[in-house]
Amino acid sequence: MRIHELSNLLANQIAAGEVIERPASVVKELVENAIDAGATQIDVIVEEAGESLIRVVDNGEGINPEDVPLAFTRHATSKISNRHDLFNIMSLGFRGEALPSIAAISDVTLNTTTQDAPSGIMYHIKGGKQVSATPANGRRGTVVSVRDLFYNTPARLKYLKRPQTELSRIADIMNRIALSYTNVAFTVTADGRNILQTNGDGNQQRVIAAIYGRDVAQKMRAITGEDDDFNITGFVSLPELTRGSRDYLTILVNGRFIKNFSVSNAVIRGYGSKLMVGRFPMGVININTDPLLVDVNVHPQKAEIRLSKEAELSALIIDTIKSCFADENLIPDAYENL
Ligand code: ADP
Ligand code: MG
Repeated sequence: MRIHELSNLLANQIAAGEVIERPASVVKELVENAIDAGATQIDVIVEEAGESLIRVVDNGEGINPEDVPLAFTRHATSKISNRHDLFNIMSLGFRGEALPSIAAISDVTLNTTTQDAPSGIMYHIKGGKQVSATPANGRRGTVVSVRDLFYNTPARLKYLKRPQTELSRIADIMNRIALSYTNVAFTVTADGRNILQTNGDGNQQRVIAAIYGRDVAQKMRAITGEDDDFNITGFVSLPELTRGSRDYLTILVNGRFIKNFSVSNAVIRGYGSKLMVGRFPMGVININTDPLLVDVNVHPQKAEIRLSKEAELSALIIDTIKSCFADENLIPDAYENL
């Protein structure tokens, strides 16, 4: 065979293979788009663990109707435009890959209305092909509905785990996002049942209570730490409150949930001998830093990042946690009305 360029659809399906691993990836991408659009209320509705329906409703700025087909074009984004922006990423998205990837492997309708445009639009695209585009009016914001995920990628469909497992992945990603964006009110509804609700009042300890229960939230201590490059806040559990894995520790770098072994290790090391072997703390660590120190362009799903000055950050975290538990009286921080 001679060399030839792949069709857009095939290229998008290949990208989808990296970006959209499972229903939870769709939820993550759609909710991140809603956050980037400045939404203050985001409702996620899933049916059959996202296999039959994933719907994200936001009250963000919406998309100009003429731009909607572009939103489904690969490498088209409103979030960055030059090299400088790429090294100073403030938004969750920037690759312009999520919507075209999702549309290549499912049936998507997007209904969006902006403040200024005279009319909104209802756009329907399936398997990467536009089905229809009709004027539609709604309140400001965007509703994206994804049906029949992986209908044309049978291997991916087979690879999905039991619905219960897929749903717990969705819940997990939504929990982390809710912990990060405490100023956004979230609801998550699965097959008609509410599985997460936050009120968007900015109180992180209250979000911890919404997710893990009041008992857990009451056994948290607030942490703060700072050096020239990093600012750390958050909540960590008293040494008596532990779990058998690190999954209950949420690390947020500039608002983005990440997996980073050295950071979570630093948290654990900060507890020193106060933790039993094989036990892990719960909590949320918010790390804020100059975006120049963070390379998020490492992983298609942006779950891993490259951090400059990682050793310095680890030392700061260890210190912060240590000093938090230095005093004798390990009394949880004051809270009200959790
Ligand atoms: P990225 O988020 O990397 O820019 P996406 O494919 O996720 O790429 O989205 C493409 C574009 O569509 C975004 O840059 C944004 O302009 C627009 N968009 C997507 N979802 C929304 C939304 N919920 N509200 C407003 N604009 C959106
Ligand atoms: Mg996006």
